[in-house]
Amino acid sequence: MSSMFFKESLHANYCQTFEIEKVLYESKTEHQHLIIFQNQYFGRVMALDGIIQTTEKDEFIYHEMLTHTPILSHGEVQKVLIVGGGDGGILREVAKHTTLTEITMVEIDQDVVLLSKEFLPNHSQGAFEDQRLNLLIDDAYRFISNCQDKFDVIIADTTDPMGPGEILFSESFYAHCHRCLNDRGILVTQNGVCFFQKDEMVQTANRFKPLFKEVAFYSAAVPTYVGGVMVFGWGAQATMLNLTLQTLNQRYKHANLETKYYNPSIHLASFALPNYVLDV
Ligand code: SAM
Repeated sequence: MSSMFFKESLHANYCQTFEIEKVLYESKTEHQHLIIFQNQYFGRVMALDGIIQTTEKDEFIYHEMLTHTPILSHGEVQKVLIVGGGDGGILREVAKHTTLTEITMVEIDQDVVLLSKEFLPNHSQGAFEDQRLNLLIDDAYRFISNCQDKFDVIIADTTDPMGPGEILFSESFYAHCHRCLNDRGILVTQNGVCFFQKDEMVQTANRFKPLFKEVAFYSAAVPTYVGGVMVFGWGAQATMLNLTLQTLNQRYKHANLETKYYNPSIHLASFALPNYVLDV
């Protein structure tokens, strides 16, 4: 029987392919093309508009780093806003922090939530039932531009800057996030694999600098975000990066988190970037 392959269309002249054991679901939602398929090595894989979003095998790396790094840096988070994040992986990690009082999630595509609950149950692991969750199906740009609330951490778990996700990399979106952060608030963003998408990183840095007291990037290598380290944008209202390993270890222990990738040493080390990244 001939094999079927999924070929990712993110980069012009370089791509990765996954052998498709079985297509579990494929459709054109109101906003984007969505496919969830089974791959022998990575387990269940979701792609949106031809771009790999998440796989069962390596999702923990991205979701733990994008969640625990800002929350443990802050130390007193009560209210979190998740932008995008429809697969529920970020929500699962955020919900592990029992001290939080409110989790607001704004995801544009209801089908991503419904199909992730059905076909990627290991991502959310029941977190969509968390009593603290206020799930809104809406364009996060529309939400944040009208938002009068304030958050301690905003996690932009978005698609890449194209299609519905493009607006979530704009100066205006970042300015509204800045307006909706409390005094010690932190915005973190999915900012691409800089070996291929360095322009995204430069653009975010230039757009963060006029807004935030502290601008940085941190990184983690996620195998299915091909090309080396993925960088995460960091915009903080105050100086948050002067934490000691001892303080982080205390907070990590107190939070009683079970993590497969994140730990306080990796947290601190992740802000050390290679010269080719610093140079851009
Ligand atoms: N982890 C993935 C990555 O690093 O590329 C992204 C995960 S998640 C699937 C991205 C989510 O952003 C999708 O569910 C998509 O529907 C959502 N999204 C895209 N544009 C949006 C918008 N303007 N407002 C809210 N959600 C949006």
